[in-house]
Amino acid sequence: MIKFLDLQKINNLYKADFQQAFEQTLDSGWFLQGNNVKAFEESYAKYCGVKHAIGVANGLDALVLILRAYKELGILKDGDEVIVPSNTYIASILSITANNLVPILVEPDMDTFNLDPNLIENHITPKTKVILVVHLYGQLADMKAINAIAKNHNLKVIEDGAQSHGAQLDGKVSGGIGDAAGHSFYPGKNLGALADAGAVTTNDDELATVIRALLNYGSHVKYQNLYKGVNSRLDEMNAAFLEIKLGKLATVIEKRRAVANMYLSGIKNSKIILPKVEKIDAHVWHLFVIRTNQREALQNYLLENGIQTLIHYPIPPHKQKAYEEMKELHLPISELLHTQVLSLPISEVIEHKDVAYIIDCLNKF
Ligand SMILES: *Cc1c(COP(=O)(O)O)cnc(C)c1O
Repeated sequence: MIKFLDLQKINNLYKADFQQAFEQTLDSGWFLQGNNVKAFEESYAKYCGVKHAIGVANGLDALVLILRAYKELGILKDGDEVIVPSNTYIASILSITANNLVPILVEPDMDTFNLDPNLIENHITPKTKVILVVHLYGQLADMKAINAIAKNHNLKVIEDGAQSHGAQLDGKVSGGIGDAAGHSFYPGKNLGALADAGAVTTNDDELATVIRALLNYGSHVKYQNLYKGVNSRLDEMNAAFLEIKLGKLATVIEKRRAVANMYLSGIKNSKIILPKVEKIDAHVWHLFVIRTNQREALQNYLLENGIQTLIHYPIPPHKQKAYEEMKELHLPISELLHTQVLSLPISEVIEHKDVAYIIDCLNKF
């Protein structure tokens, strides 16, 4: 069986380094808010080309805390509207509703799967304050157009960079192209910890200060609480593991691009629509997502041939029970995409002979 993602094999590459980091951290006796987190935050900020990286407990919290901090700063208030793509992973939308803000779902471009900038302005009202951009499947959204719209309408741009670590546009890196960004280091992400983990990046000093307090019970100074905060800290062990993996992220991206290029040039079947790549550097291939009108048949056929695939995502957020208030929304592009998309195996450790075999199977379907 060709696994969709072999996390054991991926992390085995770092086993000796992980073991050393584990021992050092264990021996230090210091497990939270220490030097490992500080070191990783500095490295990740540098990597993203921003002033601040703030370790948090997971990617969802990163987004929740950014919006929450804007509320504490008086930039957002209950009922304000946040534009967000309709075909994102539900966490993007949960971060909005968790803050008593209103998600305004905007359709993606069929070919790139990312927010269609041409559709944004129609949805802007006096209550709109933020565009929450998602760089879906690892490809940067059209940030030039989106930042221009945001500037015109005085909106904040938040990047959901959970899938796009290291994607670049004109020398800027995912997480440094808007006002603030949420990152996930969930184990299956391109930069994955060995547990839940995440970060916020921003150049905004005030925002960074508020987020640092919010994630630590709302406290800047021990036992003094400015805000009704939460506990959402990155831990020392995973910060050390992430530092090790960050050092190899460029290679990881290169290897994923090589696999994507094999798929892009090798798959030739009129029943399959390939993803559109705008710029090579702007896509880090967290997922390789094809479209087909015969998804169930194709997925079963691949499984019969020993190839595991997944669907990202089977149900659009506005059709989820959790968002019953949105069930009347008419989002035809999103709804169609959710019936067509299929994610092929891709990673830095998949063997090229396996990729060639998958391509062969796809072409015979
Ligand atoms: C994974 C993911 C998140 C959430 O990150 P967690 O670390 O799992 O909380 C948010 N948005 C997108 C697009 C994701 O893929």
